[in-house]
Amino acid sequence: MTIHVRFAPSPTGRLHVGNARIALVNWLFARAQGGQFMFRLDDTDTERSTAEFAAGIEEDLRWLGLAWDSFARESDRMARYARAVEDLKAAGRLYPAWETAEELDLKRKLQIAQHRPPVYDRAALNLGAADHERLTAERGPPHWRFKLDGRRVTWSDLVKGETVVDTASLSDPVLIRADGRPLYTLTSVVDDIDFAISHVIRGEDHVTNTGVQIELFEALGGAVPGFGHLSLLVDASGAGLSKRTGSLSLGSLREQGIEPLAVNGLLARLGTADPVEPVATLESLIDGFDIGRFGKAPARFDPAELAALSARTLHLLSFEAVRDRLPEGASEAFWHAVRGNLATLAEAAVWWQVVTGPLAVPAIDDAAAVLAAAAQMLPPGPHDETVWSTWTKSIGAATGVKGKALFLPLRLALTGQDHGPEMRVLLPLIGENELRRRLNTALGK
Ligand code: GLU
Repeated sequence: MTIHVRFAPSPTGRLHVGNARIALVNWLFARAQGGQFMFRLDDTDTERSTAEFAAGIEEDLRWLGLAWDSFARESDRMARYARAVEDLKAAGRLYPAWETAEELDLKRKLQIAQHRPPVYDRAALNLGAADHERLTAERGPPHWRFKLDGRRVTWSDLVKGETVVDTASLSDPVLIRADGRPLYTLTSVVDDIDFAISHVIRGEDHVTNTGVQIELFEALGGAVPGFGHLSLLVDASGAGLSKRTGSLSLGSLREQGIEPLAVNGLLARLGTADPVEPVATLESLIDGFDIGRFGKAPARFDPAELAALSARTLHLLSFEAVRDRLPEGASEAFWHAVRGNLATLAEAAVWWQVVTGPLAVPAIDDAAAVLAAAAQMLPPGPHDETVWSTWTKSIGAATGVKGKALFLPLRLALTGQDHGPEMRVLLPLIGENELRRRLNTALGK
């Protein structure tokens, strides 16, 4: 079987970590099995969809590194949905209804007051041709509902195992609005059939939809794909993340300096029993990926865990992986020297400044002997990584100063900071002339 999955966001907002998890799991599911990953924009809701959000989602996916093999936009396929609508009408599965939102709301309130389930009562199903004519004249065109079979729809879910939705307990869903626009419940199934989607992997909030949509696949004569419903992400208090989507949007994580690979690394493990570990490449997440490892319980997302993983991820990244984002001229040796000290990549620029200068070196007045000896004994460049050790040994021997009293003034004089990457690796990067200049400045010369 050819594996073909899709990530199908509606362009009514930007992606947040919850969406990213669905996208990533689809992508990994496809990549691990030599399958295809489609990016589809569910943009039939023309009131809420915008071109800006669509472009933003594309940018977010690119940032994550989740390349797609094919792309579709639902708004390009309206003629196809119109044909599917005709097929469903011909099969007697669509019926017109004219109730207003207020009338439906009233019905629901009444049902609830009478302790009955708030399910659409199918009043419109009993209307005859004369009623249709009259209602159209009085109220304009109808919306159209899908007549559910009302049965126990079952499937073997990739995450949840055997799953049942009793469609007898559901309202017949509206598939076409009164203005003629088809709704997601229908368009998604038509696309999944046409693009030969083998597996629909999405959030648990779609389980009920799946019951309805399996009936639709069958009504349209399409092959029913496999389904997997991932549990939702929750915060530390167990609440859903929906209220915090702003701060957890991919755009905002990017602004915070979070590495996309850390987002992927965390989201590939959350909700599984597997440990969260930094990875150096996206590809390394593909090997051995198994959607069956995701549990049914909600997965806890902790922004602090993401930030920590992001730093640990940076420490692993190759020069190739970051060179485009480093300051102009930064070398591989520089990257290897500083990466272990970074919390975000932006901090590399600070160390680049330290290495290349100009650097404001504080005057250090309580270590004149050490600094004078250092200036005098600095070997001629170019330096390698052994110089720091031989140089400081000779300074120590000449001055009798050891340990922190020796190393701290040197570090301060040469980097302007009391902490940072190993001096052994910084020294060759700074270079003899600049080292001399800094030592002299620290000596007040
Ligand atoms: N557009 C739907 C959503 O964003 C897609 C759900 C699905 O994967 O079928 O929730």
